[in-house]
Amino acid sequence: MIVLKSRAELNQMREAGRVVAEILQLLREKVVPGVTTLELDRFAEQECKKRKVRPAFKGYGGFPFTICSSPNEKVVHGFADEVPLREGDILSIDFGVIRDGFYGDSAITVPVGRVDAEKERLLRVTQLSLDLAIAAAVAGGRLSDISSAVQTCVEKEGFSVVREFVGHGIGRQLHESPQIPNFGPPGQGPRLRPGMTLAIEPMINAGSPAITILKDGWTAVSVDGKPSAHFEHTVAVTESGPEVLTLP
Ligand code: MG
Ligand code: MG
Repeated sequence: MIVLKSRAELNQMREAGRVVAEILQLLREKVVPGVTTLELDRFAEQECKKRKVRPAFKGYGGFPFTICSSPNEKVVHGFADEVPLREGDILSIDFGVIRDGFYGDSAITVPVGRVDAEKERLLRVTQLSLDLAIAAAVAGGRLSDISSAVQTCVEKEGFSVVREFVGHGIGRQLHESPQIPNFGPPGQGPRLRPGMTLAIEPMINAGSPAITILKDGWTAVSVDGKPSAHFEHTVAVTESGPEVLTLP
């Protein structure tokens, strides 16, 4: 069942989303050569404490960190560690909080210093695919319009859509109905209605779409070792169009 949110509930989700966006923005500024993902993780946890919100992921299904930090060929759900990031890396940071009972969830992929043209293009196209997907989150449309928008954008550029992970409804639960694949033909699935709140999150590989999970049981990596990017926003379907909730 897809839970529709009232106006008051959307206000609460806006607040949760704003906190997520603020902390992600601070994290983005900290991504420089030499920093470790463990430092970023600790920083994110402190910022949650300061703002009296709880990290959404720490402890979720046993996940041990506040942020999912996934450099280069890591796709999603990477563990923080003490390996310094290097110039030319890209780093995906997925982060969420729960505030007054409501979740916000967002992800960015950030260049570490200067990156090569192909990585830059991967980031740009993945971000664009999210923007187009958000634009498709219109009342009266169908859920798979969102999916199709991502796939069309990304494959036109020669990149590939990860199949194993999907976007999701979000609200009082981190993962609510419906699941939102990043592929498939448009015009299918539930009709989009005002009050739906969706975490839309393309996960895009530079090479083959195939992924595998590392021995830690969480970290997804591209099988061919090529880089992967991930952008995500929590979005509300409203009468007047899509509204991104994870904005500062
Ligand atoms: Mg996320
Ligand atoms: Mg998510």
